Parts: sequence; C-alpha cells; structure tokens
Amino acid sequence: MHNKYGIHEYKKENLFKYDTEIDILYLKLRYHYSTLKADQFKFNFVNSPICEYCDKNKQETIHHYFMDCEKFIQQRQILKNNIIRLHQHFHNLTNRQLISIIQGKRENNIDNTIYKNIYQFVKLYIVTTGRFA
Ligand SMILES: [Zn+2]
Repeated sequence: MHNKYGIHEYKKENLFKYDTEIDILYLKLRYHYSTLKADQFKFNFVNSPICEYCDKNKQETIHHYFMDCEKFIQQRQILKNNIIRLHQHFHNLTNRQLISIIQGKRENNIDNTIYKNIYQFVKLYIVTTGRFA
C-alpha cells in the first residue's frame, strides 16, 4: 500500500487529512509553549535548554529547530525547496525570511493561499523530523 508513495508524499497526504494535532503542535511552537528544550527550560521542566539531537551545543529554540539543527538538514532542504517553488518572491529564500514566515508574519503582496500552502509544508517539516512524535 505504501509502495506508490515516497515517504514524504505518503506523510504529506496523511497530513492534509489529519492535521489537527499538527496544527496544535505548530501553534505551540509559535507561542513558545512547545516541548523544545528551550521552551521547557523556561518553565523549569528540564535541567538544560541545549539540543540533544545534534552536537552543536546550542539551545533548542524554534530558530535552532527550523534553521540550524544538524539532525534535520534533509527535511529542511525539502521545506525550503517547497516554499521556493510556491512563489517567485521566495526564490532567494533567506533563513531570516523563512523564520519570519514560520512565525506567522505575512507580506502584503503575497496571496493568502500561498501562505496556506506554506503552512502545510511547515507542518510537513514538523511531522517528518519526528521531533514531537
Ligand atoms: Zn540540534
């Protein structure tokens, strides 16, 4: 049954159907109430804010998770490629642009449907990293 899809297509299709849970995860990330170590550390739920998924010895913030963590290089490249393909405005997508999109900032000249698609791809990133599984 899974054969006709690559893992990403398979997960993407699932994601489009059952994404309420991922919506909530994404909201928590945006509002810094996630299970990322930096968020948990803020509330004294963990002893250290440092990312345990790579050797960079950096705080596991939303920025680290989406832009920097070495564990998710492949998923990040897919996310960037997907966004770049959506609109010419994003053809030279910078990290700064990407994190601001992820944090929900919108530019007036970009249509809402473009952002809807972008958020699906952000959620695809969240799912395929497996970080919150
Ligand atoms: Zn990391």
